[in-house]
Amino acid sequence: MKTEVKTLDFNTDWEYSPALESTDHIHIQEPTDLFISGEFIPGVRGKYFETINPANEEKIANVAEAEKADVDLAVKAARKAYDNVWSKMKPTERGKYIFRIARLIQERAREFAVIESLDGGKPIRESRDVDVPLSAAHFFYYAGWADKLEYAFPGRDAHPVGVAGQIIPWNFPLLMAAWKIAPALATGNTIVLKPAETTPLTAMKLAEIIQECDLPPGVVNIINGGGNTGQALVEHADVDKIAFTGSTEVGKFIMKTVVGTGKKYTLELGGKAANILFDDAPVDQAVEGIVNGIFFNQGHVCCAGSRLFVQENIAENVISKLKERMETLIVGDPLDKNTDIGAINSKIQLDKIKMYVDIGQKEGGSIFQSPCSLPKMGYWHAPTLFTDVSQSHRIVQEEIFGPVLAIQTFRTVDEVIMKANNTPYGLSGGVWTDKGSKIFSLSKKIRAGVIWANTFNKFDPSAPFGGYKESGLGREGGVEGLMPYVNLV
Ligand code: NAP
Ligand code: MG
Repeated sequence: MKTEVKTLDFNTDWEYSPALESTDHIHIQEPTDLFISGEFIPGVRGKYFETINPANEEKIANVAEAEKADVDLAVKAARKAYDNVWSKMKPTERGKYIFRIARLIQERAREFAVIESLDGGKPIRESRDVDVPLSAAHFFYYAGWADKLEYAFPGRDAHPVGVAGQIIPWNFPLLMAAWKIAPALATGNTIVLKPAETTPLTAMKLAEIIQECDLPPGVVNIINGGGNTGQALVEHADVDKIAFTGSTEVGKFIMKTVVGTGKKYTLELGGKAANILFDDAPVDQAVEGIVNGIFFNQGHVCCAGSRLFVQENIAENVISKLKERMETLIVGDPLDKNTDIGAINSKIQLDKIKMYVDIGQKEGGSIFQSPCSLPKMGYWHAPTLFTDVSQSHRIVQEEIFGPVLAIQTFRTVDEVIMKANNTPYGLSGGVWTDKGSKIFSLSKKIRAGVIWANTFNKFDPSAPFGGYKESGLGREGGVEGLMPYVNLV
C-alpha cells in the first residue's frame, strides 16, 4: 500500500519553506497481520484495530489484534524454535543472523524512519538520526557478544533462559524493540514481542526483515494488541522471562503477576529526571541541552529532563534565555526536516498533558508557552515551562511524559541533591558545571541510573540503562544487558 500524506495546515509565518521527507518509497502491509512462526497470519478470531497518524488523525493501516489463543500460538512457536533450533545453534551462527538484521535495518533506514514518524508523530530528524541508527547499532553491538559470552561472564557458563515475553511502549517503538530483541537473541533465547497499540508499524517492518534474513521460524514472533494481549503474555505459563518497558503503574501490576511463578523479569519504568545547572556552567550550551532534554520527542522520553534546578544567582538570565530559545522551536509536521517538535502520540496522552498543565496553573505555577499556532486536526501541544513551583507541586512530582518543564532554583549543593532525590523515580539526571569534581560528587549522590554531564539524552548500546526506585529493575544495554537473558552456572 502506498501511503499518501497531506501537508498539514499550520498557518504559520515561518521563514522556512517546508522540506517534507518523501513517502513514496515506503510500503506498509494492509492489513498488517501477526508475525508468528515466520509467517504473517491473521488472528484466530480475525480481529483488527486501526493505527492512525497522530499528526492528522488519519488511519494508516488495520492491524491484527492478538487474543489469548494467538498469544498461545506465538509462545508455542517460540518454544519449538527454542528447543529444536535456536538453543542448539552455534553462537557464531546466531551472531551472523543478528548482524544480518542490523545490516538490513541500515539498508532500509529511510523507510523505517518515515514509518516511525508517520505512526508515532516524532520529527523525521529524530527518527532518521536517532531511532533508526541506534536500533541498528544495538543489533551490531549484541551480534558481537553472541560468541563471546565466556568473556562477558568469565569462569561461568551462560545458558539461555528460554522463551522471553517482551512488552514495549510507544515512545521509541523500533528502538525499544531493538533493545529487547538483540540481547535476547545473542544469548540464545526465543521471543514473543508485543509493541504498543498506537505504534505497531516499525516492529512489523522489523518482522519483514527478520523473515528476509531467514531467521528460523518462531525465533522471533511479533504480535500486536492492547493491554489484554500484554497481560496474556505475562500470564502465559510457558514464558520464562518478561522484559517490560512502560509505565510504573503497569510495571507494578506485572511484578505482582510474576512474583512466585519462577519467571525472571526486568522492568524499565517511568522517570522525573532532574537537570541541575550551576552558575559556573557554559549557559548557552546548557540552555540547548535543557531544551533537548525536555522537548526532544515531545517530552515522550522516560529519561526526559522534566525538572530543572538552576542556581539562584543565574536563574533570571537562564529562564530568559530558555524562553527566547523556545520561541524559535518549530512545532510542525513530523515529516518536515525543519521540525523540532512533532505530534503528541495519542489523544489520551494529549489529554493527560493538558490535565497537568491545568493542574500546574491551578496550583499557582507561572506558565510560559512557545507562541505557535497548532493545526486543528491531530494532537499537538506547545512547548511549555513553569516557574514559581515547589517540591510539593504535582507537576514537579508526577511524570507528565510531554513537553512540560518545571523550573526551581537552589543555592547550595546539598540543597539541590536533596531536592533532586525527592521523587519516587530514579531513572536519569543531568549536571551542568565547569567543575569535574562537582560532576563526580553529584553523580554519586543523585539516586538515578544515568547521569549526563554537560549534555543530555545521549545513548550508546555499550552503556547500561535502567532505574532506581520506582523507575524499575534491571539494566538494558552494555554487558549488563545480557544478564537478564542468561542463567549462570
Ligand atoms: P504503558 O501504558 O505501561 O504501556 C506499555 C506497554 O504495556 C504497551 O505495550 C501496553 O499496551 C502494555 N500494557 C498495558 N497494560 C498492560 C498489562 N496489564 N499487562 C501487560 N502489558 C500491558 O506505558 P506507555 O504509556 O505505553 O509508555 C509510557 C511509559 O513508559 C512512561 O511511564 C515512560 O516513562 C515509560 N518508559 C520507560 C522507559 C525506560 O527505559 N525506563 C523507556 C520508555 C518508556 P498498549 O499500548 O496497548 O497500552
Ligand atoms: Mg499510530
